[in-house]
Amino acid sequence: MQEEKLYDIAIIGAGPGGYHAAIRAAQEGAKVALIEKERLGGTCLNWGCIPTKALLASAHLLEKIKESEEFGIKVEDVSFDFPKIVERKNKVVDELCDGVAALQKAWKNDVYYGHGKIIGGDAEKGYKLEIKGDKTERITAKRVIIATGSSPALIPVFNVDHERILTSDDILAPDFDVVPKRLLVIGAGVIGCEFADVFNRFGSEVTLLEMLDSPIATEEPMIIKELEKRFKDRGIRIKTSVRVLSVDNKGDEVEVKTIPADVPQEEMDSAVKTVFKGDYCLVAIGRKKESDELGLEELGINTMRGQIEVDPLTLETSAKGIYAIGDVTGGIMLAHVASYEGDVAVANALFSLGFKLKPEKASYRVVPATIFASPTIGSVGLRRKEAKALGIQVILGMFPYNSLGKAKCMGEEGLLMILADKHTLQILGASCIGEGSPELIAEVALAMKNGLTIEDITHTIHSHPTMSEMVLEAAEAVVGQAVHKKGRPYVPIMKQIYLAPLPVEVKEVETPK
Ligand SMILES: Cc1cc2nc3c(=O)[nH]c(=O)nc-3n(C[C@H](O)[C@H](O)[C@H](O)COP(=O)(O)OP(=O)(O)OC[C@H]3O[C@@H](n4cnc5c(N)ncnc54)[C@H](O)[C@@H]3O)c2cc1C
Repeated sequence: MQEEKLYDIAIIGAGPGGYHAAIRAAQEGAKVALIEKERLGGTCLNWGCIPTKALLASAHLLEKIKESEEFGIKVEDVSFDFPKIVERKNKVVDELCDGVAALQKAWKNDVYYGHGKIIGGDAEKGYKLEIKGDKTERITAKRVIIATGSSPALIPVFNVDHERILTSDDILAPDFDVVPKRLLVIGAGVIGCEFADVFNRFGSEVTLLEMLDSPIATEEPMIIKELEKRFKDRGIRIKTSVRVLSVDNKGDEVEVKTIPADVPQEEMDSAVKTVFKGDYCLVAIGRKKESDELGLEELGINTMRGQIEVDPLTLETSAKGIYAIGDVTGGIMLAHVASYEGDVAVANALFSLGFKLKPEKASYRVVPATIFASPTIGSVGLRRKEAKALGIQVILGMFPYNSLGKAKCMGEEGLLMILADKHTLQILGASCIGEGSPELIAEVALAMKNGLTIEDITHTIHSHPTMSEMVLEAAEAVVGQAVHKKGRPYVPIMKQIYLAPLPVEVKEVETPK
């Protein structure tokens, strides 16, 4: 019988959490096994971040061409070929997946294709793993990182049939090359809004159905209002506060039956129903954590509704030497968070094996996030509502795109708001809607990570004319010094705070450390 291979670390799942962790561990000199049951790159590269953004790039280009007359450029007979757009999207995905494979090879990591499961062992003797693919293989690893991610939640009421009632995986499948004439999207969170945006730009009549009273409910109210306005202007219908009762594939169309979300359970049968019809329905209501068949129960690893519980600082599970990262832990479900957690878990796992590196503690104070719709929305740190809940007195600076030279040249609209501690002027967060918002937010994220204040930004020379001047002007607006914004300094800005939809109370509180 062949001897089982011994690794320092085995990583189950090769999404942005797992493949990134595998490279990081190899960089530290560890012997690494990476196990993947489908495709390297996971959700992000195959069914998430990358294919959506490849479609978005075509949609964006189309929109720009349609707007070209405003810029004095005439383009006649604009049309598009959706199957070709999908072909390009598939090529981008394939090339990036190949890139991940090449990187693993370059770092001499062993990649196993198949379903990975921990079948026994402990942190002292090492864990035994079984990989069931074309053949069944067994390996031993001193430490294990679970990075098995998530998949679209299949809740029975939504009746997903993968034909007309689709998940995001279905609509991003390499062979889905239809632009639905009418598209219903259930769920106006980030994923729902991104698809609504893309298909609207390719000509679909899109209706978003949302149970909460607003789309992307966690964002700043002003940002949400701006998104709603822009979506409505483009003909995207947004129906909020609706509960979906049933979704039916009627053969050549889909019917979604709804009632108002506030109807109590006992009155649901008699409530007035509204029926929405579409050619296809995308169900974007949440993600299931992929923690089945990993051998967790046998190892005494705690899970809650499928998500693997970890120590919030070390990311170790309740089994010594086994860590979990990314979507499967149910934390902040973003690719870059999964990768970051990979760094933390690798550092802690290798430190425990005596590698010469520092252990890490996870921190989520500065996590930039983006909604890639048109307009793009970027945010980082606290929203006003959260600051208020924490009892922090904040001061807000806001700057509109239409007051910035570069944005005007580019024909872009939007706004950036920066939130700072009223007493220390330390930057606490920022929200932005408009072209380039993720890049603007990146500067604020760096400032926050380093505990910088508004003055650190206002005293930094920003190149002119650039979009980065938005950050400078919004920071200046915090202290009433924005040069290209009308209004007397300070007092109007204070008014702006108190008149804003979420007023921040004035009360003396200790400044948080
Ligand atoms: C439509 C959509 C758009 C998105 N857009 C963005 C975006 O723009 N930006 C962003 O930051 N995030 C985005 N996300 C979220 C992002 O994709 C996820 O947060 C990220 O992929 C999570 O990474 P992960 O490594 O934890 O898991 P995943 O990427 O889900 O990877 C897990 C991998 O583990 C494998 N696996 C599971 N179980 C086993 C097993 N037992 N054995 C072997 N392999 C296994 C799976 O096949 C998969 O490849 C998007 C998600 C979706 C659905």
